Amino acid sequence: MKTAAPAPVAAIVTVGNELLYGETVDTNAAWLARSLAALGAPVARKLTVGDVTAEIHGAVRSALDVADFVLVSGGLGPTADDVTKQAVADLFGRRLHVDRDLLGRLEALFRARGLPTMPALNVSQAEVPEGATILRNPNGTAPGLALEVDTKLVVLLPGVPRELRGIFEGDLGALLRNRLGDRLTPVHHRVIHTTGVAESRLAELLEAELPADRGPVTLAYLPDLRGVDLRLSARGVSADEAAAWFGRYERAIGPVVAPWRFEAESGDVVEALNAALAATGRRVAVAESCTGGLIAKRITDRAGSSEVFVGGVVAYDNAVKVGELGVSDETLREQGAVSEEVARQMARGVAERFGADAGIGITGVAGPGGGTAEKPVGTVWLATVVDGEVESHRLSLVGGREAIRERAAQEAIARLYRRVIHARSRA
Ligand code: AMP
Ligand code: MG
Repeated sequence: MKTAAPAPVAAIVTVGNELLYGETVDTNAAWLARSLAALGAPVARKLTVGDVTAEIHGAVRSALDVADFVLVSGGLGPTADDVTKQAVADLFGRRLHVDRDLLGRLEALFRARGLPTMPALNVSQAEVPEGATILRNPNGTAPGLALEVDTKLVVLLPGVPRELRGIFEGDLGALLRNRLGDRLTPVHHRVIHTTGVAESRLAELLEAELPADRGPVTLAYLPDLRGVDLRLSARGVSADEAAAWFGRYERAIGPVVAPWRFEAESGDVVEALNAALAATGRRVAVAESCTGGLIAKRITDRAGSSEVFVGGVVAYDNAVKVGELGVSDETLREQGAVSEEVARQMARGVAERFGADAGIGITGVAGPGGGTAEKPVGTVWLATVVDGEVESHRLSLVGGREAIRERAAQEAIARLYRRVIHARSRA
């Protein structure tokens, strides 16, 4: 393995009062960080400040403490509240001057838009700090500006996301590649998707199996309501070397994660379910109470679902469970709507009535009201049916209404997926 030169380190400063108020979500910082990681320059620091000269000075200084180059976004507009350009020019003792070329291009842009004269305010957008390189903005009027500061680079970018991206994908990307060239070390990733197992449990099981020599690989646990993604990352090695390392990890942890793992480009287990149904020539119908159509929505969110999805019933009222699904009145009376037997009858009923090979029945207490000591909020009965054979599970889910519904839908989709996969291997 070659010892690569240290990767160039980046920092990001986003400027705007609206970012501090939380009115605008700072998508620029996230987008730039992802783009820089893909380019091969890790981000060491991200800072957000308001449209205040002293704050901008502090942030850019702090960024330069740790980084080889700094990307500053926001505050390049023509109005008085935009102070970034002046602030950065002052910080490095550069005077602003009107760039004739740029002014000509801006005027042409306004003429092309059918405006005979450019508003005086826009002249300020043709002002650039001494020595700055102009980075073309294909989607707007404020160009990006790159300033050499000793051996480092400070780049100013407009805050409008479309404009910032256009500049990064064009002139700025080219500039960084040119300048940093072989020092750039892209990160290679492999993601293992799991669902149905808690992050802490997974970590406990995996730590015992991880290779003693971790090489260039780091492992991250990325949990959300639907499951836990394991992300393997390797930096500073070629794609082939990374793949070899990932293979070593796969052999060590693959057997451990197998019960909960699924393969899906989108990261959504529905993709795996739909693929498994299609591969085995099966179709599914769903009967939903507490999830209110969420499962049907998720299945049909995916293109091509008509091949595997017959239809669904949102059976909220007991009359619908009885009338549309054939759930027994007696069972409802004796065991209640949230019960194992009702879930089973819902699953079997919808599959039979819709002529589907597979079915889901789900009924539960999503809350916040409606819980009892015996059936607290989060109690869900889930049944799956495949080729006439019913399986049922009691779930005890935590969280608010939305989280409970989301988790219930996920569990239903994942359980059916596992059964269909099994049915396939038995066939
Ligand atoms: P500015 O370049 O500061 O005039 O920003 C123009 C517009 O871009 C703002 O009104 C915001 O809507 C948007 N914007 C600015 N900064 C960001 C950011 N960091 N992330 C997402 N949008 C932003
Ligand atoms: Mg602004």
